[in-house]
Amino acid sequence: MAISLRCAPTLIDETLESLRKAGREGTEGVVLWLAARPLASDTAIQQVFVPEYFARKDVFRIPPSGMTALMSHLRTQKLALAAQVHSHPGRAYHSLADDAWAIVRHEGALSIVVPDFAMHATSHNFLEGSETYCLSSADKWLHVPKREISDYLRITA
Ligand SMILES: [Zn+2]
Repeated sequence: MAISLRCAPTLIDETLESLRKAGREGTEGVVLWLAARPLASDTAIQQVFVPEYFARKDVFRIPPSGMTALMSHLRTQKLALAAQVHSHPGRAYHSLADDAWAIVRHEGALSIVVPDFAMHATSHNFLEGSETYCLSSADKWLHVPKREISDYLRITA
């Protein structure tokens, strides 16, 4: 069964605020969206999790200690990593580094890239303004066309 996600506007706001905070410091930001297991169709995002990471203007990395803390959090809260969202200084696209370093790795995982350090993004224009990628069964990140986005992610309370 295909995975599709649903995210409340308040969690989008929380996501964007975190990305903007990083942007004001001149770096990319990254947040992780967590949901109850198992990930299925119409899975509601339950938590926005900001991992320990370091970033520069055009790259971010989660160090081993950040991964360990994340895994421990997922285990104790009985949550799964559903999607990752990160910001770019300019245009939104999945770079080769993004392909290689994605934290979400399951088939159907979503990776969302928000342009311009999320400075212009709101919960209303989030889907239109961002670019979404989905990990295929062949482990390739495929761009999700805007007309298909609602099959993957909906913003609703
Ligand atoms: Zn990127």
